[in-house]
Amino acid sequence: MDFSIAPELQQLLDRYRAFVRERILPLEPVIAAKPFVDGHAELEALRDEARAAGLFGPQIPKSLGGLGLGFREHALVSEVLGHSPLGHYTFNCQAPDAGNMEILHLFGTEEQKQRWLVPLAAGALRSCFAMTEPDRAGSNPTWLETRAERDGDHYVIHGRKWFTTSADGAAFAVVMAVTNPSAPPYARASQIIVPTDTPGYRQVRRIPVVGGEGSGWASHSELAFEGARVPVSHRLGEEGAGFLIAQERLGPGRIHHCMRWIGICERALELMCQRAASREIAPGRMLGTRQTIQNFIAESRAEIDAARLMVQHAAWKIDVEGTYAAREQISTVKFFAAGVLGRVLDRSIQTHGALGLTEDTPLSGFWRHERAARIYDGADEVHKSVVARRILRGYGLDVGQQAGTTHG
Ligand SMILES: Cc1cc2nc3c(=O)[nH]c(=O)nc-3n(C[C@H](O)[C@H](O)[C@H](O)COP(=O)(O)OP(=O)(O)OC[C@H]3O[C@@H](n4cnc5c(N)ncnc54)[C@H](O)[C@@H]3O)c2cc1C
Repeated sequence: MDFSIAPELQQLLDRYRAFVRERILPLEPVIAAKPFVDGHAELEALRDEARAAGLFGPQIPKSLGGLGLGFREHALVSEVLGHSPLGHYTFNCQAPDAGNMEILHLFGTEEQKQRWLVPLAAGALRSCFAMTEPDRAGSNPTWLETRAERDGDHYVIHGRKWFTTSADGAAFAVVMAVTNPSAPPYARASQIIVPTDTPGYRQVRRIPVVGGEGSGWASHSELAFEGARVPVSHRLGEEGAGFLIAQERLGPGRIHHCMRWIGICERALELMCQRAASREIAPGRMLGTRQTIQNFIAESRAEIDAARLMVQHAAWKIDVEGTYAAREQISTVKFFAAGVLGRVLDRSIQTHGALGLTEDTPLSGFWRHERAARIYDGADEVHKSVVARRILRGYGLDVGQQAGTTHG
């Protein structure tokens, strides 16, 4: 494995780092302090600056106006952007749009690409991905209630979805719906593009999450499909290919989330160290002289470094052997990095005392949003089960494929 960084890539990372420090961080208190939709004008101005600097769309193919970075290169950029909650959005590589761009690029027809991918890549519209349902365990995606029934050249969709990130203000949803209930479990569902102005599509509410309902891109919605009718040509890939496409999207997507989390950890550690070096607990005696705080810092450093190496290893395996071959590494790093994120954020908040719970630092916002890291992209327990089952198989114990071990 070669984890060295080529000089051109290092230069590019330095440019992203400088943009985050000089342009994004100073605006954080202004933009992050108000609802997402109220900071729209400032964010668009930042995006224009990113375009002018030639940094917009690091993961987007060059043919669509992006930088066309490879998977591992983009993972490194993702860490740098993770320093700010606004980082990924500024450069148009935010979830869930980045994942939707990827599947449109891989599976979209020419017509779908022109209509949806081109404006997404330009940052002209937003999208969402609707798979999880309120009445079905999201950990078991073979058990969906939402149905898309064929009616001539159309699908008619009935069902409910929730926790659809970024549905508020999105132009279209990629909806996972059962198209053939009697097919084998992993061939039952398809992914269908539903424009949000389709009659029968309804945004029920923005769901309050850990005290805030958010707005726009920074929110999660409940959706109702009440006879939403879309042409069959809105289906992505073959009928029944929904899970296959979901796996293509989720495997690499998890790596990018992990690198974003590592970026957040680095920011939290930096703030922890700054506080430890500047907060006096008695005249002339800094907080950082206490061994508990030193332990916080050292343990955080070790855990972040371990998580980064694990992510790089998983990314290398994906590059060399493909997503399927790397599924154990992807699952391992998903739960490990999510745990590190929670612990590092918690230590940093603890080091700040009451200040850590205010909005005067980004820590409480990071914690509010990222507690979910252990739940989304597959609950940690499900990933642990995937890893343990594969290991046990080496010892002759075949636990078998359980429901609830491939997920959204
Ligand atoms: C902030 C946030 C954003 C999200 N964004 C999206 C989105 O954009 N689109 C979308 O479709 N979904 C989204 N989700 C939903 C997410 O994918 C699901 O919450 C996740 O898959 C878990 O499903 P569930 O919530 O139904 O929990 P359940 O499946 O009910 O599981 C509950 C708990 O049970 C345990 N558990 C479940 N299965 C197993 C098992 N096999 N072994 C051991 N323990 C198990 C786990 O601890 C799990 O946390 C989002 C969720 C959050 C919190």
